Amino acid sequence: MTSTQERYDLVILGSGSTAFAAALHAAELGRTAVMTEFRTVGGTCANRGCLPSKNLIEAARLVYDAAHPRYPGLSPVHMPINWAELVAQKDEIVSEYRAHKYESLLDEPERIQIVSGQARLLSDHEVEVQSADGVRHLVGEQLLIATGSQPAIPALPGLSDVPYLTSDLLSSADDPWGTELREQPRSLLILGGGYIALELGQMFARFGTEVTLVTRGKSILSGYEPEIAEALTEILQEEGIRIVTGAQVRGVERSGDGVTLSVKLHGSQHTFTAEQLLVTTGRRPNTEALGLEQAGVELDQAGAVRVDRTLRTTVPHIWAAGDVIGRETESQMATPVGAHDGKIAAHNALSGEPPRQVDHTVIPRTIFTDPQVAVVGLTDEEAVAAGIACNCNTIPLSVVPRAGAIRDTRGVIKMVLDGPTRRVVGVSMLGVNAGEVIHEAAMALRFGATTDDFIDLVHVYPTMAEALKLVAISFTKDVNRLSCCAT
Ligand SMILES: Cc1cc2nc3c(=O)[nH]c(=O)nc-3n(C[C@H](O)[C@H](O)[C@H](O)COP(=O)(O)OP(=O)(O)OC[C@H]3O[C@@H](n4cnc5c(N)ncnc54)[C@H](O)[C@@H]3O)c2cc1C
Repeated sequence: MTSTQERYDLVILGSGSTAFAAALHAAELGRTAVMTEFRTVGGTCANRGCLPSKNLIEAARLVYDAAHPRYPGLSPVHMPINWAELVAQKDEIVSEYRAHKYESLLDEPERIQIVSGQARLLSDHEVEVQSADGVRHLVGEQLLIATGSQPAIPALPGLSDVPYLTSDLLSSADDPWGTELREQPRSLLILGGGYIALELGQMFARFGTEVTLVTRGKSILSGYEPEIAEALTEILQEEGIRIVTGAQVRGVERSGDGVTLSVKLHGSQHTFTAEQLLVTTGRRPNTEALGLEQAGVELDQAGAVRVDRTLRTTVPHIWAAGDVIGRETESQMATPVGAHDGKIAAHNALSGEPPRQVDHTVIPRTIFTDPQVAVVGLTDEEAVAAGIACNCNTIPLSVVPRAGAIRDTRGVIKMVLDGPTRRVVGVSMLGVNAGEVIHEAAMALRFGATTDDFIDLVHVYPTMAEALKLVAISFTKDVNRLSCCAT
């Protein structure tokens, strides 16, 4: 089949949040842009990641809270669960959101276009898109790589011979890949101790699945503050999740209808068996089979596209942003980071104005366990490694009036300061609404606030945000002995 070349100011590989942000900005600048997609429009977050997981995590919280009322006087209620209906409503939410927030933007093809099919670079300006309908050739004055990431699968003996799930298990129904989990497992082994393992692990456990989480790390959440990991471990264990740390997985095999992991644990051999295995050992950038090397686009050691702070790759008119740049420029794989940077990439590619640089020093992020984990800036260890003469304090959330009032004092908050100036360089919190509270800390870090700024700011009483004020006070006073509104 022959095809003509179609010319655009910006050709984008991918159609996730990074790609959409870039395409929308191109349209704002009055330039032509086209996205390409071989899976579902909207990418990982809308179809397989953030949205479906947060939908079902909240349903699981309702089930758990009903069965475990915190208030004397309220009796537990055990809600029967209809898994098929839960999945169907999740798919409905996903498809409504996708229609409203993504597909509707394609109704004006003169602004943003999308071409379905698998894209790859034929040269540094030409992209071939292959689909069942044929081949199209898109020529871009500028190109943007926004192909996201996929589950990283470890090379474990036997893994390729057993069925296993990945973080794609929440794929929406119209995903042709058929990776979705359609029945609730009675038992689940989860390999990994990062945020996806914890969010999905707690969710399944709350729906009634017997969950065992196996990680090679000394604790869950490596890279986070140890006080947070320790407190969350206790909370999850109290809910009945079995957490196995320091595990060296030797192999995987089928056993009956299930899967068995062979593990070396503190010198001795153990096996763990469950109906299903979920592998959540990280995500890797989608950079394979894109023709990047021929076009001169270099990758880093982790397989991410190498970029400078303007998101320019090693080819001047090719840009990259979102999950596909991995940890380049200290970026993180998260939707708002990709959306923020997609716009910057489009600006730098198309505006003709001086290039904007990305600044990834203040990226608030949240793990949607219950209670939530939220962090911004540096951990204690990172501050020390950066040569900061740091000073840290951790307080339990039991000192926060709101936590006491609502009978949920689970968690801690830790603040990291640059000692001499008392400038706050990092905050980590495990607690109710931590994902909302962290935005105050993020704004504070952005503007170089000190502990005095947190103390001087009048906080709404009683809110969980007062945890920030109290941890700032704790550097000079014993917060256990303060009256409720004292500073
Ligand atoms: C279970 C889970 C939960 C998550 N929860 C959160 C959360 O709560 N908050 C948060 O901020 N982040 C969350 N994330 C991460 C978030 O989903 C990603 O960071 C985000 O989607 C990255 O956006 P992106 O546009 O860079 O890539 P993607 O959204 O992955 O989009 C890239 C698109 O490119 C397409 N593509 C790839 N190669 C080609 C090709 N050759 N041709 C054509 N198309 C191609 C892919 O099919 C994909 O649709 C979660 C992820 C998972 C898996």
